[in-house]
Amino acid sequence: MPVDLHAHTTASDGSLSPTQLVARAKEVGLSAIGVTDHDTIGGWDEALRAGAELGIHIAAGVELSTSYEGGRFHLLGYYIHPGSDLMQTLARIQAARADRNVEIFANLRELGLPLEEDEVRAIAGPDAQLGRPHFARAMIARGYVATTQEAFDRYLADGKPAYATKAVLTPQDAIRGIHEAGGVSVWAHPPLNRNFSLDELTDKVGEWRDWGLDGLETFYSRYTPEEAEWARAMCARFDLLESGGSDFHGASKPDIQVGVTHTGGPVPDAVLDAIKARRSPKLFSMPTKRAALPSCSQCRQSVPPCDAPGARRR
Ligand code: AMP
Ligand code: ZN
Ligand code: FE
Ligand code: FE
Repeated sequence: MPVDLHAHTTASDGSLSPTQLVARAKEVGLSAIGVTDHDTIGGWDEALRAGAELGIHIAAGVELSTSYEGGRFHLLGYYIHPGSDLMQTLARIQAARADRNVEIFANLRELGLPLEEDEVRAIAGPDAQLGRPHFARAMIARGYVATTQEAFDRYLADGKPAYATKAVLTPQDAIRGIHEAGGVSVWAHPPLNRNFSLDELTDKVGEWRDWGLDGLETFYSRYTPEEAEWARAMCARFDLLESGGSDFHGASKPDIQVGVTHTGGPVPDAVLDAIKARRSPKLFSMPTKRAALPSCSQCRQSVPPCDAPGARRR
């Protein structure tokens, strides 16, 4: 059965809980769902439990915010080890996000569009890491804008008056960190960086591949036919893995559905098989607190569990 390797939950700026997301994946006939929240693995535990219950494989990942040559780029890391040093990096990014949210509140206040932290928190839910889509929804509730897109276009997008920066990583750092954590690195939706032409992005794909990039998204809900064609050509030319998914968020992007990419359908399961085959069973740098690490009951190494029958976290 096919898969969708890019989706968000209430751990970041999605509106479905991890359990609800996994249930949705099952409803639409997927065998696996990527849980790829922004800069956090906070949705993993719940998703893995729901996945075990419903028989849905969780492609456990994270969508890292990076910054390079004046652009913002998202790097997906799949099957990163939760005991790796990358977790400290995530903590640093989360701290930078908290500082940045303070700046966004101040910028909005200065623009005459005040929001209280409590109202944004109420929209995001208690466990979420706040992101701009939550601000956008609070702005809609206040009547400042009509849609999330309007909130981004007028205020929140990169370069707009309420924008504040957060990235503490370069793509090179992110790729290295993902590999040291035993994971697989995938450049998310490269053509969505509209500040760069496809020719400029082509140069970057070559450069990032030299840094160890494993793959890029060739399936994506918002690709045009030309962008999808470009992405596939990049994989062929640079021998990269194909990946992708819907980038489902729920309420903040209501036009995007679980299991629906630019093709109108989900991602073939062979794509996931190739990503799984690229995982590293071992960490390159072992964590300091090893006792705390969960592991797979069958192979005793990989987290989330390997594909052996009866494998579970222990
Ligand atoms: P943040 O985590 O605060 O950087 O917000 C990231 C989310 O905002 C992602 O879901 C993006 O798709 C969304 N986003 C970023 N830029 C835009 C934009 N220009 N228009 C609409 N959504 C955007
Ligand atoms: Zn998001
Ligand atoms: Fe993204
Ligand atoms: Fe995403």
